[in-house]
Amino acid sequence: MSSDFLRPFIGYRNGQLMVEDVSVNDLARAHGTPLFIYAKAAMLQALATYQRGFAGRDAQICYAMKANSSLAILQTFVRAGCGLDIVSGGELDRALAAGCEPHKIIFSGVGKTRAEMRRALDAGIGCFNVESRAELEVLDEVARSMGQRAPVSVRVNPDVDAKTHPYISTGLKGNKFGIAHQDAVETYLFAASCKGLRVVGIDCHIGSQITEMAPYLDAMDRVLDLVTAIEAAGVPIQHIDFGGGLGIDYQGDTPPAADTLWAALLAKLDARGFGQRKLMIEPGRSLVGNAGVCITEVLYLKPGEQKNFLIVDAAMNDLPRPAMYQAHHGIVPVLPRDGATTTWDVVGPVCESGDWIGRDRELNVAQGDLLAVLSAGAYCMSMASNYNTRGRAAEVLVDGAQAMLIRERESVADQLRLERAL
Ligand SMILES: *Cc1c(COP(=O)(O)O)cnc(C)c1O
Repeated sequence: MSSDFLRPFIGYRNGQLMVEDVSVNDLARAHGTPLFIYAKAAMLQALATYQRGFAGRDAQICYAMKANSSLAILQTFVRAGCGLDIVSGGELDRALAAGCEPHKIIFSGVGKTRAEMRRALDAGIGCFNVESRAELEVLDEVARSMGQRAPVSVRVNPDVDAKTHPYISTGLKGNKFGIAHQDAVETYLFAASCKGLRVVGIDCHIGSQITEMAPYLDAMDRVLDLVTAIEAAGVPIQHIDFGGGLGIDYQGDTPPAADTLWAALLAKLDARGFGQRKLMIEPGRSLVGNAGVCITEVLYLKPGEQKNFLIVDAAMNDLPRPAMYQAHHGIVPVLPRDGATTTWDVVGPVCESGDWIGRDRELNVAQGDLLAVLSAGAYCMSMASNYNTRGRAAEVLVDGAQAMLIRERESVADQLRLERAL
């Protein structure tokens, strides 16, 4: 049996697209389209690359669940030993529902509400990654009112260029995230003086879809400089959290493997005398992005004078990344046909010109064919919306030859449930 992999555990066998040992065509016929399909082995393999990188170290991997927060995906990572990085009270509830031990939960994000803080303190989470002085003040107050000391880490902004899309770059001076490098020591002294706070760590997160090592190495140097300065000022730092952000191959991108990246970062930590420090990381995209595909059916062929449009049944509400970031996703046929290809713009049915999924793609397709949108495991389903009263897609998790429906297709009744007619 020949197989031709497009992504780990996703590829062609005997002329049809397979996710692990399951036929994509069969799944689409059984569950309809648009349909997200995930390869469990691909997720665990991506995780294993990190785990290998950290072998023998005191390190905790907290999956950044906003990348894909479906319950069964969370359970997959939690059962494999991951903690979770959350950014809202809703994500906290999902994390607990997935069985994550509270002490392995990190709460990130610039806008935590008092209610979210209270809920997280009640649950006993491991760390609040705080992003401003004002947030420290509020968290201090909330924790004291509950007779608690909130474990905190301050997110510092190392002011390095992650060389990625401006919307997903977060480590530069001009954006809303983190505390400026020059304010870090003062902020830590303030945090250490608060009776409702307990300083446990320091964190940074410089951006997303990073494909080079240099920004990480630069950020690490900047953060370690701060750790030295903060500890010299009398505030001990137990753990260092380097965030997430490692990129994946969308379009021939060549990010370093997680273990290669971490070999370089750990060498720097060792050289600077921080090799024994507890480490945390918050990878999202690199654990799930290439483990998922979104299957869509070709509704209409619409050849034109300037452009040929392929209208499919998935849209920007299912796959928001092209509309939001001009992102590229590979698009391949589920059952490839022999013969000449045509250049198509692959677009959805939503009433927006921004509703495109791929531009200038060479495909040989007919009405009713199925296409697979690749690298759809991260920041697709978790960003899906009901725009145009489109129900969110169904999701299937494949494990070897087994396939399990992990999310039913959303119905209009589901959407109308919270509404009240006049
Ligand atoms: C989004 C986010 C992550 C995960 O980023 P990826 O690029 O998906 O790895 C990690 N930490 C924080 C604070 C984030 O906001």
